[in-house]
Amino acid sequence: MTEADPLRLLAVHAHPDDESSKGAATMAKYVAEGVRVMVATCTGGERGSVLNPALDRPDVWERLPQIRVEEMARAREILGVEQEFLGFVDSGLPEGDPLPPLPEGCFALVPLEEAAAPLVELIRRFRPQVITTYDERGGYPHPDHIKTHEISVHAFEAAGDPDRYPGLGEPWQPSKLYYHMGFTLPRTRALHEAILASGHESPYAEWLENWDPDRDLSHRVTTRVHCAEYFAVRDAALIAHATQIDPTGRWFACPLEVQQRVWPTEDYELARSVVDSPVPEDDLFAGVRSEVTVR
Ligand SMILES: [Zn+2]
Repeated sequence: MTEADPLRLLAVHAHPDDESSKGAATMAKYVAEGVRVMVATCTGGERGSVLNPALDRPDVWERLPQIRVEEMARAREILGVEQEFLGFVDSGLPEGDPLPPLPEGCFALVPLEEAAAPLVELIRRFRPQVITTYDERGGYPHPDHIKTHEISVHAFEAAGDPDRYPGLGEPWQPSKLYYHMGFTLPRTRALHEAILASGHESPYAEWLENWDPDRDLSHRVTTRVHCAEYFAVRDAALIAHATQIDPTGRWFACPLEVQQRVWPTEDYELARSVVDSPVPEDDLFAGVRSEVTVR
């Protein structure tokens, strides 16, 4: 007798809203296919600010941590995913020269072994075949994003080892680990040129001028997931994080139709794999599907 073991995807993110700006259309696509998708949110985003001018009010600032939980719940419903907070406290984005020390007790300061424990427990309970996270630079240099990368790699390697983290559940080895490669130079350039060609002003001109080509990671992309029909779902989820996004800002300045035509994929780097999955590929579950359908 054969029994299908459902496919499960775990996306590890630093703050509420990150799941809606990185890989959201991919998640919505897999949810539509019947894949179980779980978002792990490392921190509550307590030290974020209000980035939407329309909500920059004292009553909003006062309730910000609670509001961010409510926003996350709405985004979760829109994306059709499950979601859990891992319970760490936002480190904030340090600014100044020299940089101020990180606040005591924040996520970035928790020792790695301890910081990865809740994620190991979640992996052993949810049993994802695929995990997505940020690259070693964090995608952008927020200490929580870098820490998110570190615990994801650590937990990917530890969750299947019965000698590590005893007491946190039955060992489970995920098959593949991916890094988001969403903000690449070729994509931004392609969108920029398409907007100009359509006779509009590009929101990316300044970005492109200041882009250090050495920091572009597009050569590392192994995997492009076609998910253009879910870009609108992604945008709706992002707007649900109302305090964190200016609906009149750069995020929404590129027409959806242009994005769907010019760059219809979300892109990833396959960073670890314990299954045979030759790259390039267009499916995060490539090499996994055949193994889980029969057991
Ligand atoms: Zn973040």
